[in-house]
Amino acid sequence: MRVGVVGGGCVGLAVAGDLATAGVEVTLYERGDLGSGASGRAAGICYGAFADPTDAAVATRALERYREWGLLSPCPYVWVARNERDARAVHEQVTEMRALGLDVEAIPPNALGERYPAVETAGLTACAVANDAGTVTPDRVVNHLAERSRTAGATLRTETPVSLADPTTVLMADDETVFDAVVVAAGPATNPLLAAVDIPLALETYRAQVLVTGPVDVSLPSLYDASREFYWRPRNGGLLVGDGAHAVDPEDCDPAADPEFVESALERLRAATGLDPAIAQSWAGPCTATPDRDPLVGPVADGLWVATGWQGHGLMRAPAIGEYLAERLHGTAPTVDAPLAEQFDPTRFGGDEAFHPLGDPTAEW
Ligand SMILES: Cc1cc2nc3c(=O)[nH]c(=O)nc-3n(C[C@H](O)[C@H](O)[C@H](O)COP(=O)(O)OP(=O)(O)OC[C@H]3O[C@@H](n4cnc5c(N)ncnc54)[C@H](O)[C@@H]3O)c2cc1C
Repeated sequence: MRVGVVGGGCVGLAVAGDLATAGVEVTLYERGDLGSGASGRAAGICYGAFADPTDAAVATRALERYREWGLLSPCPYVWVARNERDARAVHEQVTEMRALGLDVEAIPPNALGERYPAVETAGLTACAVANDAGTVTPDRVVNHLAERSRTAGATLRTETPVSLADPTTVLMADDETVFDAVVVAAGPATNPLLAAVDIPLALETYRAQVLVTGPVDVSLPSLYDASREFYWRPRNGGLLVGDGAHAVDPEDCDPAADPEFVESALERLRAATGLDPAIAQSWAGPCTATPDRDPLVGPVADGLWVATGWQGHGLMRAPAIGEYLAERLHGTAPTVDAPLAEQFDPTRFGGDEAFHPLGDPTAEW
């Protein structure tokens, strides 16, 4: 079997590695450098704390593989609320997650403060912690997945932009190759690639932003503030702080963070911790979204497969999604015991749905 993979991010590289390991002849095409899309710009937060059973199963398997590969640094993931509506959501999520057997717990705000004295707990209405979480370094993930793919025999072609002539024919500047199957894991560019073969995809793009601080001399978990809509994770003695997300045209995603984002993220960090660190770096990158916030993973035509629509969770899912796609393409039993084929079916939408990539801001998260 010969498979072409379009996109050299964490998802394309994970699929390529697992297919090659299974003995499939794989060629991966990346228009720039490996990891030059969203993958190299991710924050690197990984957790299995999802209330949906399929999402939880995928994330749990991905964490397991990251651990096996020595890429995951343990770091609890805390999420907090500041109003009654968000507090209700936190408690419901924890109940659902615990019913799935996940190692999560609701803790009173003062207990969070005792565990992490640098967290300002005044104003918090609910807190939960996923103990079984961690962080990865995006560049290390990309390098590991690339090395693993090459070792298993995959050919990785960088600086090679491609398009599709038909579902299984990949067109390069001066050549074309026909495969038994093609997997498009090209992030926001998945849409235009499929449009060339008349397959519409329900996919939108938004731009996420982060900043990295200089050293902070305190112990902190990764934390998502659901009411103030930002997060941080410890990183190299400092903190990486995000979000500042907004809808964007995929072709117009400025990689430099906006000064307004940097100022507002720092302000929220100061209010949440009392810390006022220097800023070392900041950047932005594209994220893909779907109408129901579940990804698009599976076949869209005979021999043509897609994997995109991660809603900001692609890095943490990549090892499980790569494995799943390789198993389906290769015809072996799936490791993850969950209805991925139905839930993530990319053809569950007509492709012409109008939706906002960040969802309804008034909806319960
Ligand atoms: C600021 C930020 C923070 C994030 N934080 C996290 C996080 O903490 N945890 C998490 O799980 N996720 C996070 N994400 C999301 C995560 O980065 C993505 O979900 C993930 O990287 C998607 O991987 P991918 O391989 O699908 O896409 P990408 O990494 O975007 O890879 C797609 C690749 O396809 C290539 N390509 C496109 N068109 C073509 C073509 N025509 N020919 C050849 N190649 C092509 C691109 O160059 C690109 O390299 C974050 C994203 C951003 C921007």
